[in-house]
This record gives sequence, structure tokens and C-alpha cells, in this order.
Amino acid sequence: HNGQASAHYPRTLGKVGRVPAGIGRRRSRIVVTGGAGFVGSHLVDKLLDRGDDVIVIDNFFTGRKENLVHRFGDPRFELIRHDVVEPILLEVDQIYHLACPASPVHYKYNPVKTIKTNVMGTLNMLGLAKRIGARFLLTSTSEVYGDPLEHPQKETYWGNVNPIGERSCYDEGKRTAETLTMDYHRGAGVEVRIARIFNTYGPRMCLDDGRVVSNFVAQAIRKEPLTVYGDGKQTRSFQYVSDLVDGLVALMESEHVGPFNMGNPGEFTMLELAEVVKETIDSSATIEFRPNTADDPHMRKPDISKAKELLNWEPKISLREGLPRMVGDFRNRILNEDEGKGL
Ligand code: NAD
Ligand code: UDP
Ligand code: UDP
Repeated sequence: HNGQASAHYPRTLGKVGRVPAGIGRRRSRIVVTGGAGFVGSHLVDKLLDRGDDVIVIDNFFTGRKENLVHRFGDPRFELIRHDVVEPILLEVDQIYHLACPASPVHYKYNPVKTIKTNVMGTLNMLGLAKRIGARFLLTSTSEVYGDPLEHPQKETYWGNVNPIGERSCYDEGKRTAETLTMDYHRGAGVEVRIARIFNTYGPRMCLDDGRVVSNFVAQAIRKEPLTVYGDGKQTRSFQYVSDLVDGLVALMESEHVGPFNMGNPGEFTMLELAEVVKETIDSSATIEFRPNTADDPHMRKPDISKAKELLNWEPKISLREGLPRMVGDFRNRILNEDEGKGL
């Protein structure tokens, strides 16, 4: 083994970025924490498809084996049931750190656990990255901007976040995770990347996760009213999952630390989203208004000029193109659920 790119498994740890041009990309060993979840499982598919070895670490809090079952039996794929709050020893080249519940319903279910996942989980993965010299990517969130006073949000905006509210376990947790990431970068020389992800949707979202797109799509398929919280005039920007996964990989492979906003700048009110869901699934669907949750951000829209310029990345799939791509998956799972109940 001459230490250069080879078809064989590398014996020593090295950096993907150091592979000499022209020899071809060496196979990397990559950890994806939270890889049994919605975004993680799509990322795992992309990494395995391009020929890398992938280890998923997941405690199955919101993730499901079904999201990865089509990869079972692939010798380049390994699934470890493990909670990132506990230390772990592994040898890899890159760490994509996604482990953390993302839906408000899930992260509020056990807020202390959410904080521990964000702080202790991120600390452990950074400690791991430091020990083995791996590159580390944090999936942060647009929630670090809180209820933003700047619109659209640029990466330079510091946010407007309630430190003692119901959402704080998640948004303050992610802010601390960003701080830890930058401190390991500055203090220990760890190669880090930070993505701030805006609302993302697609196949494999949990049916019962309470997020607006999964709620509306499941409700329309089940012939239930679409539940609009508050007056429905609050806005969000919805990104299709394959666009996000392309962005995360582009960021990991780039030479830029970030943070980078990753989202689709198309901005919709919840009432407009309900209309698009009606057009896509069932034009006879009705709307039911419900009280809104505490500290709900009034608007959210990414400024993605930084990612466009430095990563040459931007989303390709509009909401009207993306929504139909998740309907088949949702229909199948809802049908299976009904069959399970003997309906
Ligand atoms: P998800 O809930 O589907 O996936 C999270 C995964 O992490 C699940 O598989 C879960 O079981 C696992 N997990 C949670 N706590 C863990 C722990 N302590 N140890 C090990 N595994 C654990 O959510 P997602 O939408 O796929 O989100 C993935 C990441 O992207 C999260 O970090 C989330 O904060 C971030 N993000 C997502 C969105 C979005 O709209 N989907 C927006 C902003 C940020
Ligand atoms: N850690 C880990 N795997 C490793 C190396 C470290 O899980 O391969 C954990 C370790 O248990 C610690 C955290 O990462 O809780 C931070 O590690 P670091 O070495 O930075 O700090 P220290 O152990 O000195 O507190
Ligand atoms: N929302 C809604 N109906 C639902 C679920 C959510 O109107 O059934 C609203 C919610 O109040 C918020 C927006 O949709 O204003 C996005 O909520 P989600 O939980 O999807 O993500 P967030 O951006 O708040 O993390």
C-alpha cells in the first residue's frame, strides 16, 4: 500500500481532500449520526451510491430501520444502535452529525434529552473527530435565528431567540452545538463545517411528526381537514430533501467552514401551503384553524447567496415539483397502517 488512492480499503486514516487529482476519489469511511431519520437516510443513500463506506449511529428515537432496510446486506453499510450522549470509539474520515429530533412535537417531548443530545452528543462527536482527525459537519438549523427581526435571514444575523421558552431546548441547544463546533475548530484544529438547515420535506418524514408538510399531506390523504395553526399568515420556506443532501455533501467536500444557510428561498404562508397541498392531492380538502403554539416564528426565508457563491449550490426543486414526490411514499405507509388496524 503506497498511501495513494487505491481500490483497496485504506489502512491509515487520511483526508478525502488530500487525494491527488486525477487518480480518482478514494473511498471514504463516513459516520452519519441520526442516519435512520428522514434527512439522514437520504444522505446515507447518496454516500453509498457514490461508493463510500457508511456507519450509521442512531438510537431510533425518531428514526426507523425501515428507512434503511433496503441497504441491509450491503457490506459497505453498518447500522449501530447507539445514543450519541454516550462516548463511542470509531475510525472514520468524515462525520455527518445529524442526531437530534427535528420536529417541534418530538423535541419538546423530552426537552432535557434534546439539550443533552445537542450538547453532550455534539461534544462526543467533536471529541471523536479530534482524536481521529476526521472532518466534522454539524446540521444546525434556521431556528438559531429565532423569531427573526431581519428578513430574509443572512448568516451574519445573530438571531432573536427566547432562552427560556418551549423551543429553547432545540434552538439554544443548536446554538450551543455551533459554539462547541467553532471552539473545537479554533482550539483543537478540528476541520468543521456548519449547515443551517431551513424547513425540509420529502419521502420518509414521520407520519406523526407534527411538522406542517407531513401533517397536511397525511391529512389530505386521510380525507381529514388540514390543520392551520394561528391565522395561517406565518411564512416558511420549504426545501425538497434531495436539494438539502446535495448541499450537505457539497459543504463537506468544500474548503469552507460556514455557517451556510441551506434552504429554498421560495416563501409561503401556511394558507398558501394548504392550497398547494389541495392542488396536489385533493382539491376538496377543507381547512380547520387551531390555536398556534408558543414562540412560533412569524416568518422565515433563507438568504442563500453565500452558499451559491462559495459552494456553487442552490435548490433545484420547487414546492410544486417536490410535493408530488412524497405523496406515493405517504400513501403506501398510510395504507399499511390501515391494514395493520384491520381496516
Ligand atoms: P429526524 O427526527 O427524522 O432524524 C433525527 C435522527 O436522529 C433520528 O433517526 C433519531 O432517532 C436520531 N437521534 C435523535 N436523538 C439521538 C441520540 N441521542 N442518539 C442517536 N440518535 C439520535 O429529523 P431530520 O428531519 O432527519 O433532521 C436531521 C437533522 O437535521 C437534525 O439535526 C435536525 O435538527 C436538522 N434539521 C432538520 C430540518 C428539517 O426540516 N428536516 C430543519 C433544520 C435542521
Ligand atoms: N469522545 C468520544 N470518542 C472519542 C474521543 C472522545 O466519544 O473517540 C468523547 C469523550 O468521551 C469526551 C468528549 O468526546 O466526553 C470530548 O472529548 P475531548 O477529548 O475533546 O475532551 P475530554 O475527554 O478531554 O474532556
Ligand atoms: N403548522 C400548521 N399546522 C400544522 C403544523 C404546523 O399550521 O399542522 C404551522 C406552525 O404553527 C408553524 C409552521 O406551520 O408556523 C411550521 O411548523 P413546523 O412544525 O413544520 O416547523 P417549524 O418551522 O415551526 O420548526
